[in-house]
Amino acid sequence: MNVLREKQRGERAVEQVLHTYRKRLHRKEAMYNAKAFSATSATSPLASTTIARRDPTETDVQIEILFCGICHSDLHQVRNEWSEFMPTVYPCVPGHEIVGRVTKVGAGVKKFKVGDLAAVGCMVDSDGTCPECKRGEEQFCPNMTLTYNFPDKHTGGVTYGGYSDSVVVDERFVLKVPANLDLAGTAPLLCAGITTFSPLHHWGVTKGKKVGIVGLGGLGHMGVKFAHALGAHVVLFTTSPGKTEDALRLGADEVVVSKNADEVAKHAGSFDFILDAVSANHDINTYINLLARDGNLTLVGAPNKPFEIPAFALIMGRRSVSGSPIGGIAETQKMLDFCGEHNITADVEVIPIQKVNEAYDRLLKSDVKYRFSIDMASLKNA
Ligand code: NAP
Ligand code: ZN
Repeated sequence: MNVLREKQRGERAVEQVLHTYRKRLHRKEAMYNAKAFSATSATSPLASTTIARRDPTETDVQIEILFCGICHSDLHQVRNEWSEFMPTVYPCVPGHEIVGRVTKVGAGVKKFKVGDLAAVGCMVDSDGTCPECKRGEEQFCPNMTLTYNFPDKHTGGVTYGGYSDSVVVDERFVLKVPANLDLAGTAPLLCAGITTFSPLHHWGVTKGKKVGIVGLGGLGHMGVKFAHALGAHVVLFTTSPGKTEDALRLGADEVVVSKNADEVAKHAGSFDFILDAVSANHDINTYINLLARDGNLTLVGAPNKPFEIPAFALIMGRRSVSGSPIGGIAETQKMLDFCGEHNITADVEVIPIQKVNEAYDRLLKSDVKYRFSIDMASLKNA
């Protein structure tokens, strides 16, 4: 009896090894080489490389990438600044603001055909079965896969992002691009757009509400545009006095230079909602004190140091502080359609991929107007 059981166990083990081997063999056959830009360590600049991507499976869409936005998260990730929460695996190919054209589709793909415009944001997969996925909030799925630096269920390695000539993504995570929008300015909507659109809706921003946006970078400038389009009274807080005119043009009703304490104090206790889109460590108590009763401050910016908040700053006034990650796929499509209807895109500086390291240095100096968008055709010469 024991001998039989041992034999069966042995056979199962052999089958397991063969299964893994066949899978690897299959993987090898079903891969292609893509050009990309990657970082090989937290301190090395991004440079040209070749990566392996899977050939489209039954439900996949292959996209030639035309533009990819540069998010400050790319910089945090490449430099391993979130090492405690999401350590970076090198080589790292960042990029989750992707717009391009479909070049191949799997036999089971229904939404896209070759030649269509298509977009991909921060997620490329989720289990599709958990309560979060069923509610259309895949960003909270425990088995969600981020577009880069995340375990890749197909290859066994990590996912590679949009600083590349192409990408292959399950059609569930591919978005439709409104035909009237400029493509370079559309790419940043896939992260900066949805990350600001989602909390503004969640916290009920409408006409008559007073909304603060902190930081006029990629996210902040989209926050200003959306809050304005929703009819709110928008106040931008900035550390850069030189951005005042732009902020007014983008839709702010007032601009406050945050280093000017007297100007800031004039707004004490008056905001229904404040969206904090700052990438660097800063004191959020300045902004908590500006909230009205039941006001909320939502963090979308993700500096690496913890915040210290006095209990009474929240207790008196029943204020709350929360965070918000990107948005679900249905909401991302809704945001893109809203942008199509209102002709909203990001204000971009289009750059060739060869300037990506320079762009990162400028991001650290808050010197971007207001998103870098990489023209991926430049990768052909890299
Ligand atoms: P960005 O374009 O670099 O903009 C950040 C802005 O923050 C700057 O333009 C600057 O605006 C302000 N700022 C910079 N240093 C500051 C300092 N020391 N004190 C006060 N303000 C400062 O970055 P981004 O791409 O918009 O991203 C912003 C943050 O959001 C990043 O941490 C990023 O990782 C995070 N993020 C989160 C999500 C999410 O799902 N929650 C998604 C995407 C990005 P002013 O010049 O106007 O002061
Ligand atoms: Zn991003």
